[in-house]
Amino acid sequence: MSVELWEKKLGEEQRERKASGLWRDRRVSGSAQHSFIEIDGEWRTNFSSNDYLGLAGHPAIASAISSGIDQWGVGAGASHLICGHQSLHQELEEELAEFVGAERALLFSNGYMANLALNSVFAKKRDLLLHDRLNHASLIDGARLSSGMFKRFRHGDLKHARKQILTTDFDSLILISDGVFSMDGDIAPIGDLKSLADQYGGLLCIDDAHGFGVLGADGAGSLACEGLAPVGNVLSMGTLSKALGGYGAFIAGDALFIEHLVQYARAYVYTTALPPSTVLGNLAALKVLREQQSSRMDHVSQLIECFKNGSDQIGLTLMKSQTPIQPVLIGDESEAIRVSHELSLKGFFVPAIRTPTVMKGEARLRVTLTASHSVEQVRALLVALAQVVNRKNSSIRTA
Ligand SMILES: *Cc1c(COP(=O)(O)O)cnc(C)c1O
Repeated sequence: MSVELWEKKLGEEQRERKASGLWRDRRVSGSAQHSFIEIDGEWRTNFSSNDYLGLAGHPAIASAISSGIDQWGVGAGASHLICGHQSLHQELEEELAEFVGAERALLFSNGYMANLALNSVFAKKRDLLLHDRLNHASLIDGARLSSGMFKRFRHGDLKHARKQILTTDFDSLILISDGVFSMDGDIAPIGDLKSLADQYGGLLCIDDAHGFGVLGADGAGSLACEGLAPVGNVLSMGTLSKALGGYGAFIAGDALFIEHLVQYARAYVYTTALPPSTVLGNLAALKVLREQQSSRMDHVSQLIECFKNGSDQIGLTLMKSQTPIQPVLIGDESEAIRVSHELSLKGFFVPAIRTPTVMKGEARLRVTLTASHSVEQVRALLVALAQVVNRKNSSIRTA
């Protein structure tokens, strides 16, 4: 194929995307993570980061990295099964397992890859991977890699999940859900999902990217909120890139499952271990979590209350969320872009989330609140929202 043919083939697709208002441009940020961000050369108050506890710029974590790097250098050199599994990685895995109350934990390069592994390793040809409809893209991609059958149930709808089970002929069940839904902010009915998995002798896998560090005592995650842990038939995936402010991910569970991942997960076996500097940062972040999680989350909870009450007063349509993810539902994709642009002119960075990340006609502003924000910043955002959101057109769906 000549380049001209590629231009015809890809160019057409790209023009279509641009015409439908779904083209995405990257913004260049010139600042470290804080409540302010320099973006495309302008300073804005940033309400778009997943750095929920404000740890991405934490000085104690940064200095733990810089003091350790002289000893450990910059790269792990190889995969875990060759020579990249350093004592630091081992220590982090043990600490993470203890932190979430699991027998073992296994480090992955990132949450995306951990989810590829989680979905593809345990399901055989006659097994059913049953997902919540709003599960993260990486879980879906993992299901596509798996040889198991892939079905979905309506968001949070246990009746529909059961119906899918009853109408499918399968050997084993693997039930998979986000703990906190990344674009909605609501929490999965984890206790009920566990009962369903128990009833059919299945596994329950929770993607806790937005729950680990945020929910439960000391931030153990969304399972802890229900008095559960990644033990027995329950596995969890946590990321180190959101509330922990760094990079990397882990799967926690019983040794049986973790050892199976070590042996068979291609996203684990065929990739270089995390850089030691990153692991040093993660160890330091866990220490900060132990000491400061509850005080930092107390502050975030206060911001959440402030934002919800304020939104209520000015008539914004929020989603059903108690977490730091507080999306404002707009509906129309181009209207969401307009509102986001006008907020930017007023000094706030709040990106519009559109299809295919969320369903068509459910475009929203994904506001995230973090420990770095002040109450004053949240109040200022509310004032700006009241000025720019056209409330007559804003309510499409609230459930
Ligand atoms: C961010 C995210 C991931 C991916 O994690 P990375 O470490 O960024 O690759 C997986 N699942 C959910 C729900 C996420 O929000």
